[in-house]
Amino acid sequence: MATHFPLYGLKPLLVLYASIVSLPGLGLGTGTVDYGRDELFSEFLRDEAVERIHQLGKISDADGYLERTFLSPASITAANLILSWMQDAGLRTWVDQMGNVHGRTESMNATSEALLIGSHLDTVIDAGMYDGSLGIVCAISALKVLKKIGKLGELLRPVEVIAFSDEEGVRFQTTFLGSAAVAGILPASALKISDKNGVTVQDVLKENSFEGTEESLVQVKYNQKSVSGYIELHIEQGPLLESLGYPLGVVKGIAGQTRLKVTVGGSQGHAGTVPMFMRQDPMAASAELIVLLESLCKHPENFLAYDENCGGFPKESLAGLVNFTIDLRVIDDMAREAIILEFSNRVQQICNHRNVNCTIDRKHNAGAVKCDPVLSEQLKNSARSTLRKMSTDTTDYQHEIPVLMSGAGHDAMAMSHLTKVGMLFVRCRGGVSHSPEEFVLEDDVWAAGLALLQFLENNMLNSVS
Ligand SMILES: [Zn+2]
Repeated sequence: MATHFPLYGLKPLLVLYASIVSLPGLGLGTGTVDYGRDELFSEFLRDEAVERIHQLGKISDADGYLERTFLSPASITAANLILSWMQDAGLRTWVDQMGNVHGRTESMNATSEALLIGSHLDTVIDAGMYDGSLGIVCAISALKVLKKIGKLGELLRPVEVIAFSDEEGVRFQTTFLGSAAVAGILPASALKISDKNGVTVQDVLKENSFEGTEESLVQVKYNQKSVSGYIELHIEQGPLLESLGYPLGVVKGIAGQTRLKVTVGGSQGHAGTVPMFMRQDPMAASAELIVLLESLCKHPENFLAYDENCGGFPKESLAGLVNFTIDLRVIDDMAREAIILEFSNRVQQICNHRNVNCTIDRKHNAGAVKCDPVLSEQLKNSARSTLRKMSTDTTDYQHEIPVLMSGAGHDAMAMSHLTKVGMLFVRCRGGVSHSPEEFVLEDDVWAAGLALLQFLENNMLNSVS
């Protein structure tokens, strides 16, 4: 197979892969220089990025598995390492009053709004090493390449990488402490939230020499007028990209989420003496409700005028009383409410019919986030040209870049309250995440970094390649 690919940058260059012969008609004319595959900055975007992800993956508060929670000793170590990489990429660095790490490069136009690129440096317990870290490392690597090729000073607007201190919410059971503070939606009451040992967010901040006051929280908030957008690169945490054979996909939106707790109360009776028609079996009623919910999510069109997806639901049981929780995620908020209403009505019917009582409590509610169409299109174009450049076969990636919904929450959710957001997903093996089994191919790390670099070159530089 043979092919030519347009190279990064402004010069009319061609990328020519090793052992590839050029095809007539695909070149950009005479006077071009052939570049090898390694010229796609694999030294930084693949080798060094993978090495850095592994380095971060070893920084843990636990022995034998990965755990970094909000401002833990390992998180501070990781933050310092990230700071040093940002400096190495030529960025001006600081840590804000919520422990978020920032690295920024100014633009020729000092007053223009900044593009923010971020992800989180904290992890779940027994985490994988790519969740969060991948987005931070690839963003720093892309800026490092711009520095290496002398274009860091040519950016049309400031570009800032933010490594958020808390997204997973492990320690305080409240997600997005870091990004919500930057977006200005973290209430001052969050300082008083305590962990299971009674230590508050404020205590932890003060222990680490942050002010931990309402005023210091306000300082973390960005002014909407100073920001042009936020992009985030993250592992997919699902199996779709792998099944489609694509390393990269664009996120159209993040599903809204409602958590319900359903409690079904019945009564126990002697198996041999209570006739079937008089039984009040909460387990049987719950089983019917669960099957109902499954059908409602699988085939909402049979119940409603919507056809969106929904998440799974764990269940647990107690004798005489059964409760289960529902985690419902839908990208359309009206569809989510319609499903909840339909489910609630049918729950009452089923419970009346089965002679058990039932309550439904809404425990959590978050609206869906739509990604910005312009940012999404720019990310899609960057992903498309990246995959074509990296491909050794012209028949690869002829289809459109996949467009996915995110069922998982991300910092972009909090940041959408500040500015428009766009997200790029990266394929991960088996869709596995929040597990040491989490894995991303080295070439996919490379593709991710290259796509960010391409995004910056296409949209943040004066001359368009
Ligand atoms: Zn994550």
